[in-house]
Amino acid sequence: MMNDGRLALYLHIPFCRHRCSYCDFNTYTSLGDLKVSYTDALCREIEQVGRLAGGERPCHTIFFGGGTPSLMSPAMLGQILQSVRRHFALTDDVEITMEANPGTVDGAYLTAVRQLGINRISFGVQSAIASELVLLEREHDFPAVIAAMADVRAAGFNNFSLDLIYGVPGQTLESWEESLRAALTLEPPHISLYCLTIEPGTPMNRWLGNGRIQPPDPDLAADQYELASQILADHGLIQYEISNWARPGHECRHNLVYWRNQEYLGLGAGAHGSANGYRYEVVKQPRVYIRRMANEAVGPFPLSAAVAAHHAVDRAEAMSDTIITQLRLLQEGLDLAAFQTRFGQSLDDAFDGTMSQLVDWGLLAVGNGRLRLTQQGRFLSNQVFYRFM
Ligand code: SF4
Repeated sequence: MMNDGRLALYLHIPFCRHRCSYCDFNTYTSLGDLKVSYTDALCREIEQVGRLAGGERPCHTIFFGGGTPSLMSPAMLGQILQSVRRHFALTDDVEITMEANPGTVDGAYLTAVRQLGINRISFGVQSAIASELVLLEREHDFPAVIAAMADVRAAGFNNFSLDLIYGVPGQTLESWEESLRAALTLEPPHISLYCLTIEPGTPMNRWLGNGRIQPPDPDLAADQYELASQILADHGLIQYEISNWARPGHECRHNLVYWRNQEYLGLGAGAHGSANGYRYEVVKQPRVYIRRMANEAVGPFPLSAAVAAHHAVDRAEAMSDTIITQLRLLQEGLDLAAFQTRFGQSLDDAFDGTMSQLVDWGLLAVGNGRLRLTQQGRFLSNQVFYRFM
């Protein structure tokens, strides 16, 4: 793993007011009364991992993800950030992102969290079309997004991102274009586009089974992705990652850590982390998490008392991870010389000519010593990645 000593911190907030029809994230709608004890447990986990690190490790990004982090009061978020500041050395330019749902925030709330040092908001917009938002069982409508964006700007945030979903049952190329253009009127410096996957156990999967909705059409989803790439490029947004576009300088620094396969800590119920040669996962259930965090950690760094599973990353996994994550970065790509230095073998040798074959097929290209997905490779990225697993 490329490692410059700096850490990224992911902090999971597992509470939502209502469960969206497609959601299989680690979130709970009936545990809001645990927020205070969860905040305390998260602060203990930050302290434990900070101590295991053996000194104040520099931290350059923090990401409150969920769930709905904007359901936490500014006082709770402040308590968590104070704990981070006590046990890690935040860089001067630290990026602190909070995921938020329109309809859960107002001007006073956003001003309060901005004052805590949170400097980036990621909004789950998903669609501008009322019927699609109803199907997704989102709690907001698009006018709520417009109002929230006005509050975001008034609170002093100049860095924010909007999420949209394509591949939604009933969505057309036209309705997708309408959502995209509506989102662009808000002039986002960053935008993330996700293709809906209907996961087992979700209400949407049940609706698929009983015929209430039709299965998404993968060809339409591919057309929607291609259309989005054109429209966003026309608006000056650079596609720096398979699902992410930004104005220069507004790339999500936290997510870049994942895609560069650098070290990050995952703290809070169900969070995943990767550091010190380990990959690990924290227990999912918030009540169990809170109970576990009453115990002492035995380590090693970064394994807190709430870690449910971990393993040491071996050479084969490290090679695959490096390729699969770095190829997601469409502009930056993968540094072939750095790969060879780290693993003592060229990428092409390590995978028996797979790279050359994919270059011949026009799915990968080499330029300036870097390996990148081609335009065609972007559409078939999962098949490219599969060959390096
Ligand atoms: S807001 Fe996000 S985390 Fe919460 S239920 Fe909806 S999709 Fe899941």
